[in-house]
Amino acid sequence: TGLVIALDGPSGSGKSSTSRGVATRLGLRYLDTGAMFRAMTWAMLEAGVDVHDAQAVAAYAPTPRIESGTNPTAPTIHVDGHDVGEAIRGEAVTGAVSPVSAVPEVRARLLELQRTIIGDGDIVVEGRDIGSVVAPQARVKLYLTADPGARAARRALEEGGSDVAATEASLLARDAIDSTRRTAPLTMPEGAVHIDTTDFTLDEVIDQVLRLVQQ
Ligand code: C5P
Repeated sequence: TGLVIALDGPSGSGKSSTSRGVATRLGLRYLDTGAMFRAMTWAMLEAGVDVHDAQAVAAYAPTPRIESGTNPTAPTIHVDGHDVGEAIRGEAVTGAVSPVSAVPEVRARLLELQRTIIGDGDIVVEGRDIGSVVAPQARVKLYLTADPGARAARRALEEGGSDVAATEASLLARDAIDSTRRTAPLTMPEGAVHIDTTDFTLDEVIDQVLRLVQQ
């Protein structure tokens, strides 16, 4: 079977840019599982589901059709045929995604989709539980972290100049929920290589990952 590279870590640790860069360099597919949880959250908000009502979230979880494109240079995400690539990065979704992602029925539904997309591999997969739950068979597992200040600065820049302090508060709030939920909490998977990206450029991190893959 083909190569699977799993990249986990908290928000703003550099997972997306690193995963896309590595996939592009190696000619692999790319799956952003965070975008799938965001798409599910977008669908819930659109349907008027109370995202803090776990029963209502669980009941709606089977409904939306979520489609992820796997081209690392042009990732796409659709919900029931709507392109939600932009909408899922907005404040409404970002503020609601962690409680939605903590609901076991949401995780079970997306796990099935994720495993179908991974298939025989040749893919870089990023998320919070990839090396631990989604693809424990992955040949290479990375756990990326960075100081909260660095993460917030990167994310604020990506968001086109949001307030860094507010961005930091929002990421720390998500990390707290993501690391303490009962189902598949964010942790460093067994066998993962930890890279603290605080003091490295994107190209340096990509090179470190490529070296690990070639070993
Ligand atoms: O990676 P990103 O910041 O887009 O992820 C958004 C949210 O989706 C995370 O804060 C987390 O709640 C959830 N998530 C998850 N498991 C994954 C990927 C993302 O619970 N594998």
